[in-house]
Amino acid sequence: MTTLLSVIRNRLRGLRNLNRAFMLVWGSAPGWTVAGTALVIVQSVVPLASMYLMKLIVDGVTGAIAAPGGVRSFAGIGGLVALAAAAAFVSALCRSFAGIVRETQAQVVTDHVADIIHEKSVAADLAFYDNPAFHDTLHRAQQEAPFRPVSIVASLTQLCNGGLSFIAVAGLLIYLHWAIALVLLVALAPGIIVRIKYSDMIYAWQQKRTKTERKAHYFHWVLTDGAHARELRLFGLGCLFIGWYRNLSAQLRKERLGLGSRRAVFELATQTLGIVALFGTFAFIAGRTLSGAMTLGDMVLYYQAFQRAQGCLQEILSSLAGLYEDNLFLSNFYAFLDLKPEVTAPPRPAALPEPLQQGIVFSRVSFRYPGSAKTVLQDIDLCIPAGKVVALVGENGSGKTTLAKLLCRFYDPESGEITLDGIDLRRFDVQALRKKLTVIFQDYMHYHLTARENIWLGNIEREPADPRIVVAAEQTGAAEALRRLDRGFDTQLGRLFEDGQELSIGEWQKLALARAFFSDARVIILDEPTSSMDARAEHEVFTAFRRLLDGRTAVLISHRFSTVRMADCIYVLEQGRILEHGSHDELVRRGGKYASLFDLQARHYK
Ligand code: ADP
Repeated sequence: MTTLLSVIRNRLRGLRNLNRAFMLVWGSAPGWTVAGTALVIVQSVVPLASMYLMKLIVDGVTGAIAAPGGVRSFAGIGGLVALAAAAAFVSALCRSFAGIVRETQAQVVTDHVADIIHEKSVAADLAFYDNPAFHDTLHRAQQEAPFRPVSIVASLTQLCNGGLSFIAVAGLLIYLHWAIALVLLVALAPGIIVRIKYSDMIYAWQQKRTKTERKAHYFHWVLTDGAHARELRLFGLGCLFIGWYRNLSAQLRKERLGLGSRRAVFELATQTLGIVALFGTFAFIAGRTLSGAMTLGDMVLYYQAFQRAQGCLQEILSSLAGLYEDNLFLSNFYAFLDLKPEVTAPPRPAALPEPLQQGIVFSRVSFRYPGSAKTVLQDIDLCIPAGKVVALVGENGSGKTTLAKLLCRFYDPESGEITLDGIDLRRFDVQALRKKLTVIFQDYMHYHLTARENIWLGNIEREPADPRIVVAAEQTGAAEALRRLDRGFDTQLGRLFEDGQELSIGEWQKLALARAFFSDARVIILDEPTSSMDARAEHEVFTAFRRLLDGRTAVLISHRFSTVRMADCIYVLEQGRILEHGSHDELVRRGGKYASLFDLQARHYK
């Protein structure tokens, strides 16, 4: 009893998602939904008319054959046949239109779902991307987004169509004999159970397989993505990854086949039951016709009605089962949509200081990445005065990039606070704050767009043809390389699209720097900004650095002491703590960690 109750409860939960499916389809394509529904109504009524016309034709023909005197006029029957042909034509017409409507409606819904996923992905906290469970949810939502909305539209249409036709035909059958309606339901009950059981199995399997599927996707990506192409060849990894991919997809295929075969066997059994019911009923109707209780036309009508009712019920069942499977997508889709960003702005954000007067201060800031036990930053006290250049040095993993991420509010500190002219970052609007900052991370992006667009992305509020784009490229030394390209600044970069030309890594880096300098932001953070540049390019960038900054506040993260020494203040980080700080001369005089690292690098150069 309790299991039955829990099954019913689960089904009801499924119905709640059905409602969401309706709202999703309706909300994204109301006009197409109305057109689709109108066609469904016509399509479910016309077959009834056809059946009735067929009964009239058979009765007309048998009546005429049996009529005394042998007057066999075709006139009346000819009219009926013409009407039946017209009904068939209307039916065909509706089917064609319904096809177009369904396809367009599905496309509109698919695009709407893609819009929702894109907007949500952009708005999600960066922390979500560090979480494998988020990737599972995103994968399921993304994976099925191209076909699930189409399937939902098809299932809903099928459900309406089947439902309406069934109501009409069932009325007719009950009028004939209530027992026939009962036989119909009893014969189909096993089918319902098999469908539901199978859907449950699919649901459980799909939940379980996501990790395997994501891993297979990862291998596929490594094999086909340009970024991995060099290492794959160099280390001869192709066969290894192809093998791993094959194993996983074979495993998934085997599981899917196993489920499919079990379903086929059960369905064959239930269909056999349906056939027995259909022909049993037929025998009953034939008997009644022979005994004179029915005309030959009635016999044709009821046989067709029974067959159609069976078809409708099958349609209803398969659409319900389809919707139940779509449920998986919908529940993942809504789980994805229900994720709430934690990095948010207060209802009434504070105004950003314009211009920055005092600067940025970290007070006793500690931080751990979400889901990680390791404290990455501990009790950080740091001051970035307005208009000054502050450098962060330290070994890999000491927490320098994490500091920059906190400044952008990609994450919030676990304790302590970061202030801008004395106001906590959490009191500003997130987007407005990010507009004040520009960061070029170590793993900055190579956009496969034109060179001009690559710089323009630093400030899309300006025109794409803004002359300051060229100025920024000249300041960082990118212009020289860009002018040598076939179409200069309007050359497509990267090898992904037609006529694309590739830059060297150092040139890409200069371009990224130009993007940062093109922005309006008054605080500029550069994470290893010259790591890929040659010594001359680096020297040129840094001799012009103060002029480039034009009074902006800057944070430089670098391993190179040649870069760091020009900063007004240098902070040395070690394992998430600040070890010492001061100007280059002060730190060298102190003879601590900075002095020894500087000495090591200087000796290396000599
Ligand atoms: P640095 O820039 O000084 O090389 P990072 O700030 O990038 O160092 O990293 C500091 C520490 O934080 C490292 O130990 C790294 O493993 C850890 N870390 C970085 N990013 C993440 C993340 N997204 N999730 C969990 N730990 C991270």
